[in-house]
Amino acid sequence: MPVNLLDFDSPTLAAWLGELGEKPFRARQLMRWMHRGGAASFEQMTDVPKALRERLATLAHIEAPSIMSDSVAADGTRKWLLAAGTANGIETVYIPEASRGTLCISSQVGCALECAFCSTGRQGFNRNLDAGEIIGQLWLANRALGADLAHGDRPITNVVMMGMGEPLANFDAVVTAMRIMLDDDAYGLSRRRVTLSTSGMVPWIDRLREALPVSLAVSLHAPNDKLRDELVPINRKWPLAELLAACRRYIDTAGSGSDQSDDAAPVVAPKVKWQRQGSPRDFVTFEYVMLDGVNDSVVQAHELVDLVGDLPCKFNLIPFNPFPDSGFRRSSRDAVVAFQGVLLSAGFVTTVRRTRGDDIDGACGQLAGRVVDRTSRLARRDSLPASP
Ligand code: SF4
Repeated sequence: MPVNLLDFDSPTLAAWLGELGEKPFRARQLMRWMHRGGAASFEQMTDVPKALRERLATLAHIEAPSIMSDSVAADGTRKWLLAAGTANGIETVYIPEASRGTLCISSQVGCALECAFCSTGRQGFNRNLDAGEIIGQLWLANRALGADLAHGDRPITNVVMMGMGEPLANFDAVVTAMRIMLDDDAYGLSRRRVTLSTSGMVPWIDRLREALPVSLAVSLHAPNDKLRDELVPINRKWPLAELLAACRRYIDTAGSGSDQSDDAAPVVAPKVKWQRQGSPRDFVTFEYVMLDGVNDSVVQAHELVDLVGDLPCKFNLIPFNPFPDSGFRRSSRDAVVAFQGVLLSAGFVTTVRRTRGDDIDGACGQLAGRVVDRTSRLARRDSLPASP
């Protein structure tokens, strides 16, 4: 069975080539051809000896998920539905802006975590993606956008692990893919331009801090355990006190802070709390989906301020994107402005995410893909790793 070279980061590829009796520098050559050059075949790799190219063609291939559909929204947002095995599909979304291009990548087929407001969570869980399927989304998007990384043409400047799935529940494959994103022989992104968003898998936040401290975003969505237990059920396992302590450890040891500004006109508070703490770039981004009458009151905004205290953080308020039978409504603009006002007055940078690509269901929380659920509710929870 040929191996898929998109599954390999540089050290793994060098080790594999070493087993074939090849020199380690060949790994660098292959990484550059595959990821910077977008090569899909070994024939293109003209500085690799012909004999090795022919040998590689018998032992390996370069294979990203295939494209099932490709849609472009009126605002330029582009969404690909990609094949992920029998009747399954995952989604990848490209969001172009004046100063950056962001690719939102999926990490699992479906999700086992069942957050109440999330379209993906409603579909159930099928399986983890492998590293090649994860980095393959970036590889494919660059090719589709006509990128020429070798000559500095980079339509994708930022990657967010915020698509389908909980990335920390697929830790090893996600970290391998993110290593390739950061590799100078591949995509060469800075760790601040790669953001991992988690619902709060506390032990894996600690593990990420040690393995690859990219920018950290946390789906918070509630100012207290009672409400968060309902909206984000993983909170019952790792409640807010444990989650916030893990965020603090992450910042203290690794720093964080994304270059992803979340597109909304950022509103900078007159007094910015996290700028008083060490490096101004070290912060966690808290995502907070605004649900009408559920978590969007001024009282809850004050509760949120008290909850995070002096933790270096910024907030990203996300207008809820309705989907059939969600049972939730989007907060009114007045409610969002009032909520944001409380956070700003308390000194937190707080943005309101602009809704993008909603005419192609490419907006946050709308990614549905196609998931053949193969889990019962109980099995979904059991599918989560018990410990790192
Ligand atoms: S919000 Fe994220 S973690 Fe929660 S169900 Fe949706 S994809 Fe899973």
